[in-house]
Amino acid sequence: MNRYRQSEELLNRSRRVLAGGVSSTLRAAMKPTPLYAVAGRGARIQDADGHTYIDYLLAYGPLILGHGHEPTVERLLSSMRNGLAYGLQHQGEIELAELLTKVLPCADQVAFSGSGTEAVMLALRLARAYTNRRRIIRFHGHYHGWSDTIFTSFPSTDMKASRKRNVMSQVIRYDNDTHPTEARVIPGTGGQSEAALQDIILLPWNDAEALKDAVALYGSTVAAIISEPVMCNSGCIMPKPGYLELMRELTAANGIVMILDEVITGFRFGLGGAHGVFRIMPDLVTIGKAMGGGIAISGVAGRADIMELIADGTVSHLGTLNGNCVATTAAVATINELSRDGGAVFARMEKSAADLSEGLRQAMKDHDIQGIVNQAGPVFHLMFTTERQVDSFEAFQKRDADLYITFAQEMLEEGVLLRPNGLWYVSAAHGEAEIRETLAAANRVFARWGE
Ligand code: PLP
Repeated sequence: MNRYRQSEELLNRSRRVLAGGVSSTLRAAMKPTPLYAVAGRGARIQDADGHTYIDYLLAYGPLILGHGHEPTVERLLSSMRNGLAYGLQHQGEIELAELLTKVLPCADQVAFSGSGTEAVMLALRLARAYTNRRRIIRFHGHYHGWSDTIFTSFPSTDMKASRKRNVMSQVIRYDNDTHPTEARVIPGTGGQSEAALQDIILLPWNDAEALKDAVALYGSTVAAIISEPVMCNSGCIMPKPGYLELMRELTAANGIVMILDEVITGFRFGLGGAHGVFRIMPDLVTIGKAMGGGIAISGVAGRADIMELIADGTVSHLGTLNGNCVATTAAVATINELSRDGGAVFARMEKSAADLSEGLRQAMKDHDIQGIVNQAGPVFHLMFTTERQVDSFEAFQKRDADLYITFAQEMLEEGVLLRPNGLWYVSAAHGEAEIRETLAAANRVFARWGE
């Protein structure tokens, strides 16, 4: 019997009229088929075939309070009765901005947009206008949205191999042949302007020497360094001790704007984001995902003298639905909920992630499966790999990505929904029962693999 018949039929119907059948390219990766959801409640989601899953996809991150968090839904409903959007100013914008400037250590001021991609676009624009420079340093394995100016793909597995190619001007060359730092900037998608990437310098992350060398070589023309504070998009790799501090020092000394992309980590690592946890003061942060609890809203927050470029008209910041009342209501409700009991929910989510990580490690050990779980606060990445540790993008690329997709597919049959790339999110709604069920499911899958 086909467990996913309804989802498959809906996908076929969709493909006739919706390009690709899904609304974001990434969603097509789910095996055996992209699932159709009909409802979600707490930590669980139901598909069109009537199966219920414990949800670790969490809409790719935003559902920090789980599905259908009742008080948030109530606030949204009552706000929506007064209108869905105004195109005029409203007090919700001020309330949210005041809240954000209170909880985010680096925020003197904020600006709102709709998606993480737009927030990054705005942050880069502010940095370029502020410094009157054009280059941007970014890192392998980090993702900052899909706009032409920042979306890159990477020489796939072996960075050393790329050294032998005759690469273009954007390559950083290192004399020291043991240094795996050379990389070519390749557009992330067909149809992307290569010219839009000409100002990107792509570096390996967590490599202090590469960063120092690049700033020494190009510093006076670099507008911004943009980095995820934790490499959540590729292996949940923590910054090495002193690395973000070095980034802060080098940027300050060379007049470069330091942007931390907290679209994943913001309102997930803590109310003050990862920069609050790490006590690093970037010039700008980008925020999104968990901030709206499932409603589209994002923003840039940071230093008043940089944000001021919006106020004085130097930098255009546009968007029909920016700061709309539904989005600001959702964000205020979500942040207020996360703030309850002094933000105790963050420690609970971190404990859930730790229990799951430890349980998955034990399950792999018990069933002789080679893999690694990298936990970084409330998120973690499970990788099947023979590497002893995954502490770089290079090591991350050596994982068996196909085997993980198979694992995710088998977990689906066991009632657990996972993101096909290995990153797990937990929400405030995930409790001990969900964790127990999930680990039992993983043990059953691994046991079958050993048969
Ligand atoms: N920045 C980071 C770190 C992200 O992980 C993402 C999305 O996953 C983005 C930016 C882009 O956000 P959005 O998908 O809302 O455009």
